[in-house]
Formats: sequence, structure tokens, C-alpha cells
Amino acid sequence: MIIAIDGPAASGKGTLGKRLAAHYGFRHLDTGVIYRAVAKVLLDGGADLTDEAQAVAAARELDPGIFGDPALKSQTVGDAASVISAYAQVREVLVSFQRQFAAEPPGAVLDGRDIGTVICPDADVKIFVVADPEVRARRRTLEARARGEDADEAQVLADILKRDDRDKNRSAAPLKQAPDAVLLDNSNLDIEGGVRAAIEIVEAVRAGRRRV
Ligand code: C5P
Repeated sequence: MIIAIDGPAASGKGTLGKRLAAHYGFRHLDTGVIYRAVAKVLLDGGADLTDEAQAVAAARELDPGIFGDPALKSQTVGDAASVISAYAQVREVLVSFQRQFAAEPPGAVLDGRDIGTVICPDADVKIFVVADPEVRARRRTLEARARGEDADEAQVLADILKRDDRDKNRSAAPLKQAPDAVLLDNSNLDIEGGVRAAIEIVEAVRAGRRRV
């Protein structure tokens, strides 16, 4: 079984996908880390992010070994990821890695922006996660402060809005809800509530109780 989690609020540290995968005994891939890993290599090398060819070269050299690097979580790396992920060729290079991950048994949960639309259009269950930008800004600010980063909530909100806009309006795999995805608004849910709601969606789709 493949579960696709997309949406502006899909990843949130990858918690929802990770928890869902643990619940079902599946493997989990937070695909945001792929774009973040490519972006970090470029930032570390002092590359010009507008240089698409360099971004494509870095994507070809993708090193999953750095997926666990805490530096990938920073706002700076996230912003750079949003810039380089808009390049069609960068996305193309990264497709097969994601599809291979999804195809391996016993099942997988992938979260990102284009899993249900581009990477795994035949996913068994698709969930599109949204939350009010103000709520997301609050969460991201608290997460950043917990990591010891200096975070200004108004600035975090402005960055979120800018990034969402870029993700939704790019021509390559823009962020949008797949027609067969179930919407999950977790603005008023804590992590546990969000996980419970996602499990309910998976069970309803699997039982055929929910036609999407
Ligand atoms: O989800 P996360 O904040 O880690 O993603 C960082 C950026 O990577 C997103 O803003 C988006 O531009 C890009 N991304 C993407 N497609 C994915 C996952 C992430 O374009 N599947």
C-alpha cells in the first residue's frame, strides 16, 4: 500500500507521515528532505540558486546519507529548497528515487507536495493536509526556538506565505490537491489529533466507506 500525503502543511517535521508509517509498519519518506538536501549542498558550495544547471547537477549527486542532518531543517535551507524545487529538470532527476522508495515492500508513506499528483498518482490513499498559515507560523516558530534558532513569528508567516505562493504557482508539479485526495485541515488539531484523523481517513478509504 502507498499513502500519499501532500499539502502546504503536509510535513511539519515529517511527524504525521512518520507516525502514520509507524502505525502501519510501513517505510516513510519526507520528500521535502530531498529538496532540502540538494539546496544545502548548493548553499554550502556558495552556488547561485538561479543557476538551474548547477541545481540539476547537485540533484544528480543526491546523497541520502545527509537526510538526517539537523541543518536541513533551517528556514534558510527550506527557502532555498523552495527555489530549486521549481526547476522542472531538478524534479525530473529526483522522480525515480522517490518511486523506487514507494515501490518497495511492505508499503510506504511519502509526504511532500506532488506525491498524489505526480510521483504516485496511483497511491492507494491520498491525503491533502492544510492548516491556517497563522497556525503554521506559530508551530514553525516554536519548533525553530526549540532548536535554539532565533525566530520572529511575523517573519516566519511572511516566509510561509511566500513559499506557498511559489509552490502553488510554479509550472513544474505545482502544489495542488489531487481530485481523489481527502482534505485534512489540522488547524485545530494537535499532533495526536492529526494522526488519529489521518488513520481514520486511511481506514475509511480502505474499507470503501469513503469514495473519493
Ligand atoms: O516540506 P518541506 O518544508 O521540507 O519542503 C521544502 C520545500 O521543498 C517546499 O517548500 C517545496 O518547495 C519543496 N518540495 C517540493 N516537492 C516535494 C517536497 C518539497 O517541491 N515533494
